[in-house]
Amino acid sequence: MRSDTEWLHFEPAPGDPHRPSATPIYQTATFRVGLEAPCEFDYTRSGNPTRRVAEEQLARLERGRRAALFASGMAAVDALTSLVDPGGEVLASADLYGGTYRLLTEVLPRRGISVAFADTSGPEVERLLDRRPQLVLVETPTNPFLRVTDLARLADLCRARGSLLAVDNSLMSPYLQRPLELGADVVVHSATKFLSGHADVTAGVVVTDNEELGERVAFHQNACGAGLNPFEAFLLVRGMKTLPLRLERQQQTAARVAAALRSHPRVGRVYYPGLDDHPGRDVHLRQARGAGSVLAFETGSVAFSRSFAGNLELFSATVSFGSVGSTVSLPSRMSHSSIPADVRRERLFPEDLVRLSMGIEDPEDLVEDVLRAIDRATASSSG
Ligand SMILES: *Cc1c(COP(=O)(O)O)cnc(C)c1O
Repeated sequence: MRSDTEWLHFEPAPGDPHRPSATPIYQTATFRVGLEAPCEFDYTRSGNPTRRVAEEQLARLERGRRAALFASGMAAVDALTSLVDPGGEVLASADLYGGTYRLLTEVLPRRGISVAFADTSGPEVERLLDRRPQLVLVETPTNPFLRVTDLARLADLCRARGSLLAVDNSLMSPYLQRPLELGADVVVHSATKFLSGHADVTAGVVVTDNEELGERVAFHQNACGAGLNPFEAFLLVRGMKTLPLRLERQQQTAARVAAALRSHPRVGRVYYPGLDDHPGRDVHLRQARGAGSVLAFETGSVAFSRSFAGNLELFSATVSFGSVGSTVSLPSRMSHSSIPADVRRERLFPEDLVRLSMGIEDPEDLVEDVLRAIDRATASSSG
């Protein structure tokens, strides 16, 4: 089966006597159990057939053995960090989703876990790896700077030190990048983004090809009770079927918008791993099937960026990305505002940074909208 086909071809309802073509919503908290033999399902917190279909499909697409779905991406990251013992250390990408940064810096220390950050795309990571962190957590490309980490190389370094390597693959999806095949131990996703794809589900997943780790994450899902509910699992199963089509269109549009921005005199640095001057481009295109559909750029002025965002007609100003509808955000005010301002300054996080996520609208309309908003912002800043 080629990879576009496997997003559609899976058993939608294993064991259902009615043989439905779509996965039903098994909206039930309890299952009538046989008093003699053990049953596959007894209680939805522990397991539910709708959620199970979504989990098995995600495990298959990421080339893992086990997947566990959670009520949000953050609940999935939390389950991942349950693999770290008190007294252990986590090493994470310096450039990380704001909510993950908050969990690592404000929740983990209270569990006796220490956290260090490194630019995992550079040489600094090796020195920190010598402290043998239990868990290394990276995003590649990162959000919002699209910095690229060589996953196969980092996986080798981690394996040599007995550190688990986890990759947050939300920005790519298994359609574009499969970290387990490159040697990572665990993949996490905010399934709220591309996997569900319609901005109507909040979900997260942990996938691994290691049975023992999978078992521990499943234990956490049942013991702590943040498993995804059947209705959202249904929406996720439905949304995932069209991911290859959505993402192909979104990524073609992103390449066009990135090119238009880069050649525009009013625009500063453009961050998109498909651009030929992107520092991680070669590594990225070796380990992923495309550059994705999220890009960011600088304008040199917070007021200009705000005016640009306000003048867009087709991009709605929302946090998040990966939906069929195009979105714009100012990360320092939105998705990354949970990183304290002084830490953002220290890391040279430009306050004027604009992030765009392409939807599936006509590419021509989106390019026009971006250029028009730049013109309008220019007119109002000079007027
Ligand atoms: C959104 C996001 C998360 C958190 O996911 P939620 O579903 O919002 O809880 C984690 N990692 C990345 C890279 C994200 O973009």
